[in-house]
Amino acid sequence: MTRPHEYGHTKQLDQLGIMKYTFCIGIPSLFDWGTGDYYSNPWEVTADIYGEVQSRPHSEEFVAAGYEYLEKSKVFGPLVWSTIDW
Ligand SMILES: [Zn+2]
Repeated sequence: MTRPHEYGHTKQLDQLGIMKYTFCIGIPSLFDWGTGDYYSNPWEVTADIYGEVQSRPHSEEFVAAGYEYLEKSKVFGPLVWSTIDW
């Protein structure tokens, strides 16, 4: 069985296509980019949302940042990396 969070990543893949998914979600996720809690990074937050992960609620601010990151990924591809907090 696929974990809900991983299922959420497949929904991101559906939206972005393989290239943008790899650059905007796959690489930051794999190398644990960003600061703070792993699952609070914007590329992980929308995976939780789409996977309907119940055990890890996210604040409105982080949810908004997650959707914003996803939309910017669609438009800008890897240039979205410039929006990541280091
Ligand atoms: Zn993830």
